[in-house]
Amino acid sequence: MAEIGHLECLVCGKTFQIPKFINFENYDGQVVCQHCESLLHIKLVQSKVRQYKVVEESFRRETADELFQIMNEAERKFGQKIEKSDDKNK
Ligand SMILES: [Zn+2]
Repeated sequence: MAEIGHLECLVCGKTFQIPKFINFENYDGQVVCQHCESLLHIKLVQSKVRQYKVVEESFRRETADELFQIMNEAERKFGQKIEKSDDKNK
């Protein structure tokens, strides 16, 4: 963890670049590994890593799964609504 500007991912172990908008002198927030898309939390004070932990592994894939579930539920509800309105018409 000597080289500032780069971080070793806690999930996949690959080195990735810290986005340039992050202030190394003082940052307490989230970064995303560009390799496995895991969400990590890092705290930087005076260009030194004070805290570094995994928030969520491959969070984008999980989000996609959640979205898929929500879409499925919405489709089911929408389907039911159509059936009900058809019943009212009869
Ligand atoms: Zn990674």
